[in-house]
Amino acid sequence: MRIAMIGTGYVGLVSGVCLSDFGHTVTCVDTDAAKIDRLRAGQVPIYEPGLDQLMVRNAEAGRLRFTTDLAEALEGADAAFIAVGTPSRRGDGQADLSYVMAAARDVARLAHDGLVIVVKSTVPVGTNARVAAEIAATAPDLSFDIVSNPEFLREGAAIEDFMKPDRVVFGCKSERAAGVMRDIYRPLFLRSFPIVETDLESAEMIKYAANAFLATKITFINEIAALCERIGADVREVSRGIGLDGRIGPKFLHAGPGYGGSCFPKDTRALARTAQEVGIPLQIVEAVIGSNETAKRRAVEKIFELCDDSVANKTIAVLGVTFKPGTDDMREAPALTIVPALIGAGAHVRVVDPKGRVEGAALLPSVTWEDDAYAAAADADAVVLLTEWNAFRALDLPRLAGGMRTRRFADLRNVYPIDALRAAGFDRIVGVGRPGYG
Ligand code: NAD
Repeated sequence: MRIAMIGTGYVGLVSGVCLSDFGHTVTCVDTDAAKIDRLRAGQVPIYEPGLDQLMVRNAEAGRLRFTTDLAEALEGADAAFIAVGTPSRRGDGQADLSYVMAAARDVARLAHDGLVIVVKSTVPVGTNARVAAEIAATAPDLSFDIVSNPEFLREGAAIEDFMKPDRVVFGCKSERAAGVMRDIYRPLFLRSFPIVETDLESAEMIKYAANAFLATKITFINEIAALCERIGADVREVSRGIGLDGRIGPKFLHAGPGYGGSCFPKDTRALARTAQEVGIPLQIVEAVIGSNETAKRRAVEKIFELCDDSVANKTIAVLGVTFKPGTDDMREAPALTIVPALIGAGAHVRVVDPKGRVEGAALLPSVTWEDDAYAAAADADAVVLLTEWNAFRALDLPRLAGGMRTRRFADLRNVYPIDALRAAGFDRIVGVGRPGYG
C-alpha cells in the first residue's frame, strides 16, 4: 500500500513510521518546513522511546519519506491519513477543526479518483461526514471514500501501542474502503489483534467515550484520595483493593495531582460541548472536568500547607513537569497550574525534568532549570515530586534531604513510603490520599 500521512506530530509521525514498518510505502507531509528538515536529517522532533531507530531503519529501507509537498505525498497513494491537531477552541471548549478542514480541502484539490481519505485526528461525532461534504464541495468530480480511524496510542509507549493495540477501530461506509483499511492493518489481523469495523459516527464516539471513561477513572480515585486523607484511609490500599476486581481493573487508579496531557482535557471538554449542543448533557463528564481542576488546586494547597501556608521567598524544587513520564509533551500538564501558582505566591522554583526542558522553557519562563534532583534540592525549602520519571523513583533520599535548608517533601505521585522519607531525614511530608503525614 502507498500511504500519505498528513501531520507529523505525536500521532502522525508514530503512525507513519509504524505503517512503514508494516511494509507499506509511507510519505509523511507537514506544513512545518523546519520539522520536515529535521526528519529528513534523521532527527525525531519529539521524545518518544524507540521512535528514532525505527524511523531511521524504515527511511533507509526506502519505505519512509518526508516532504512539505502534499502533491508528492499523494502521488499514487491508496490512502491519505489526516493526523493534524484538534486543539480546544477558545471560548466554548469544542474541538477546533480548522486544521482538519484545511487539510481536507488541500487533499481534495490534489486527490485522484479512488483515494481513501482517513481521518485519524480525534474529531467530534459528525465531523467525518462534514469532511466528506467539504471534499465533495471542493472537488465535485472526485470519487473518494472517507474513513474514521481514531488513534489510541499513549505517548511514552506509542510504538508498542501502535504495533500491539488493544484494538483497531475504523468506521466507513463502503466495502471498498473497508478492504483498503484491512489491507493497511493486515499485519495486525494476522496477529489476531481485535479490529472493530463500524460506522463513521460510532468510530468517532468510541474515541471520545474511551478518553472520557479513563479521565473519569482517574478523577474518581483522586476524589476518593481526598476523602481518604480526611478519614484516615490509604488510597493506595483502596486502589489495590478495588482494582483487583476484574470488573474494575487496576489501571488508571493512581491518585495524583490531576490529569493533564494533549488528550484528556481537550477531549472531555469537546465531548461535553457536543453533548450540550444536542441537548443531552453528560453530567458525569462535566463533573470530571470540574473535579480535575479541584485536584490541581488541592495539589497547590498541599504544597502551601507543607510550607506553613506561605511559600514567599522559599525555594521549591519541582521534580518533573511533563504531564506524565516518558514524553516531552507539556500540553495541559498539572505543572502549568501548580508552578505558576507557587511563583505567583513568591516562591523561587527550581525545575528538573529529563525531557521537558525544551518545551517547558517557554511555558515556565520564571523557573531555574537544574540538571538533577540533588542540584535542584540544594538549600531548598521543599521538594515536590510532580511527575514520576524513573530518574525520580530511586533517589538517594538521605543525600537529597541532606542538602536542603528545611526538609519538606510533597510526594504528589505516592512514589515513596512515608517511613523511607522519614528515615532519610524529611520531617514534613505530604502525599496523596495517605495517612501519617506530619
Ligand atoms: P500535534 O500538534 O503534535 O501535531 C500536528 C501536526 O500537524 C503538526 O506537526 C502540524 O504542523 C501539522 N499540520 C497542521 N496542519 C497541517 C496541514 N494542513 N498539512 C500538514 N500538516 C499539518 O498533534 P498530535 O498530538 O499528533 O495529535 C493529532 C491528533 O491525534 C489530534 O486530533 C489528537 O487529539 C489525536 N490524538 C493524539 C494522541 C496523543 O497522544 N498525542 C493520541 C491519540 C489521538
